Amino acid sequence: MSTPDSVDSQSLGRRDFLGSTLGMCAAAPLARLVLIQLAASRSGSLTKERRDSMSPAQVMDELKKGNERFRTGKMTPRDYLAEKRASAAGQYPAAVVLGCLDSRVPAEIIFDTGIGDAFVGRVAGNVVNDDMLGSMEFACAVSGAKIVLVLGHTACGAVKGAIDDVVLGNLTGLLARIKPAIPATKFDGEKSTKNGPYVDAVARTNVVLALGEIRRRSPILEDLEKKGSIQITGAMYDLSTGMVGFVS
Ligand SMILES: [Zn+2]
Repeated sequence: MSTPDSVDSQSLGRRDFLGSTLGMCAAAPLARLVLIQLAASRSGSLTKERRDSMSPAQVMDELKKGNERFRTGKMTPRDYLAEKRASAAGQYPAAVVLGCLDSRVPAEIIFDTGIGDAFVGRVAGNVVNDDMLGSMEFACAVSGAKIVLVLGHTACGAVKGAIDDVVLGNLTGLLARIKPAIPATKFDGEKSTKNGPYVDAVARTNVVLALGEIRRRSPILEDLEKKGSIQITGAMYDLSTGMVGFVS
């Protein structure tokens, strides 16, 4: 791929995440071209203006499009050094993701986001705790992120550990945060970690319960959601298909 092509496709890719903002303007082709060129010359990290002009629904839409690019093998070609340079003076991420520690669920990759696009907090079983709540409050109330996304996944080892009542050092306390999802899961069939669909059903419940925990334990985030400033939502990532399915 030639250099001009690389720059062009890169800027177009960046524009994918920011596409809604451009879409809102009735931009003539020439104006769009100028915007694209500007983005390329700045090497395109998310700016405050662009982030703030997006609604929570538009950010959600961009995350869905990013996951589609990932699972169809059409990810944005990135120049991480350019993104690093563009974001060094400030960050304006559009979303905060609470994901699992699992090495197979890197939010930045499965949503095809760049440096500076999203906050990501990861802990086994994507459990809510005070520090994660504080981080999400920072992301939204201080920094201006529009989406709180709790991201569970299939075949989650932490969920299996909770179902199997694993006892191991500090892990015991972490798994206790997942356990309420077990009795709360309605499931017909074998309720054991040998049954993948059951494990995934508990993981899904764990995500749904986390959303309630966030609203209950963080009046700040609940208030931002009621005002329409943010959207609190959950999703399950399928390790096999690469698909993110939103649960709420
Ligand atoms: Zn997991």
